[in-house]
Amino acid sequence: MTAIDLNSLIFDNRFIRELPADPEPINARRQVFNACYSFVQATPVSNPRLVAYAKDVAQFLNLTDTVCESPEFSQVFVGNRLINGMMPYASCYGGHQFGHWAGQLGDGRAINLGDVINQRGERWALQLKGAGATPYSRNADGLAVLRSSIREFLCSEAMFHLGIPTTRALSVILTGEEVIRDMFYDGNPEAEPGAVVCRVAPSFTRFGHFQIFAARQDLKVLKQLLDYTLRTDFPELAAEASPAGYLAWFSEVCRRTAQMIVHWQRVGFVHGVMNTDNMSILGLTIDYGPYGWLENFDLNWTPNTTDASERRYRYGNQPSIAFWNLAQLANAIFPLLREQDLPALQAALNVYKETFEHEWQTMMASKLGFKTFEPNTDHALCSDLFEILQRVETDMSIFYRQLATFNPNPSQNDADLIHPLMAAYYVPEQLDLAYQARLGDWLRRYGKRLEANEWSDEARRCAMNAVNPNYVLRNYLAQLAIDEATAGDFSMVNTLLEILRHPYAEQPEYQRFAAKRPDWARQRAGCSMLSCSS
Ligand code: AMP
Ligand code: MG
Repeated sequence: MTAIDLNSLIFDNRFIRELPADPEPINARRQVFNACYSFVQATPVSNPRLVAYAKDVAQFLNLTDTVCESPEFSQVFVGNRLINGMMPYASCYGGHQFGHWAGQLGDGRAINLGDVINQRGERWALQLKGAGATPYSRNADGLAVLRSSIREFLCSEAMFHLGIPTTRALSVILTGEEVIRDMFYDGNPEAEPGAVVCRVAPSFTRFGHFQIFAARQDLKVLKQLLDYTLRTDFPELAAEASPAGYLAWFSEVCRRTAQMIVHWQRVGFVHGVMNTDNMSILGLTIDYGPYGWLENFDLNWTPNTTDASERRYRYGNQPSIAFWNLAQLANAIFPLLREQDLPALQAALNVYKETFEHEWQTMMASKLGFKTFEPNTDHALCSDLFEILQRVETDMSIFYRQLATFNPNPSQNDADLIHPLMAAYYVPEQLDLAYQARLGDWLRRYGKRLEANEWSDEARRCAMNAVNPNYVLRNYLAQLAIDEATAGDFSMVNTLLEILRHPYAEQPEYQRFAAKRPDWARQRAGCSMLSCSS
């Protein structure tokens, strides 16, 4: 790679070149019709200060450490300065929020800078989150606070290194301005440090981008946007601008979405706000808000306090919500199809279910160390395991890592069989005799199942450790890094970033970061529960 300075980044802003613009130049909140985006400038800030940047992301953009650590970098990626080729804009989209159509939403606090073409010829869109109000800001301020910016920055990088499709993050930069937030929605607003994340992805197009034009019956722009998406974001499909091409595209979106959700279930990631405006057509995890990681395994858990009563976006519900969201996308593109395409559209939606079922089985087999998923035995093994895991507080990540060390020995008594798993339990007193008998029985069945597996214990352990992470961004770890950063010390943000680059490795010097959530974190805000305030 040839290192370059900021001014030699090459931009190719196809989205704005090929799609209709809002003609109104004033940056005022409004409904925007017949246009995919509005030109908008970021709001200048007083004192940008770099908190952290991701070297991996900088590298594929061909930016060196020296460039990233320069004052100019912070000025550019906080939104104060434009470099050659950047043409900032906010895009228009709509969405279903918590199951209800919400009308126009749009980039209310995201400002796109343009698409960089890197030296490998790849297209990478750059987007600032928290750089000021846009026509789509509705009644909000267009800003973001440090805590939510660090959470997005760290989690999107962690997800990437776990092998999960996601948007990336280049940098997080303090603005020097204060932002007022009522974190608990209890009438006690406070000033918090403001920050801007630069997100990076091949494209930020969401289901809601199509929904808004369908809802407004603006079929002209709907078709323009879909044809653009086929050309730009799915060139490998070679899909033509016709009903057949649209169906091929939609079934690809279904396939990718299924794969993404299987990954979330594998590692215990709960998105928290799976509204259709937070669903990427590329099947990327996008919009890290009040997300969380399962600590104790619980299919009913959601980190989002705003969703606490209905739990629409709980862990166990993510697969069916993704399907519901895809059905909304199907409705949005239906006006571009013909009546006779309906069965094919239905079949494309079924691609989600088929892909999900198949990939879920493969994923569960790999988590348990089976070469293949054997439906006859493994469906029951999995559902019994989930029931057992949920019955007492069991740390999901630690449980699977410890299970990899299990050596089947059916003659052992329950307590001895369970012993290697003890590190996973939050409240050991919950393991009464009935529970021990239940788990002991499951472990014997598991041991028997492994006999048919033709893998050595060592080979199985390696295979399991390649899919069951040792390190995830535990909710309390993110909060500790945020507390330190708020006090001016960014070292823990950078330490976590580094550890999470190798989530499946042992990293003995960092083993404490793989430990269970400490007791103090059980009820602390930010550690177990989050509001949408960000
Ligand atoms: P979310 O559910 O956080 O993804 O956001 C839903 C919609 O609200 C999107 O259109 C966001 O751009 C917008 N939004 C969220 N927070 C803010 C904010 N602080 N200022 C302006 N718009 C926001
Ligand atoms: Mg969003």
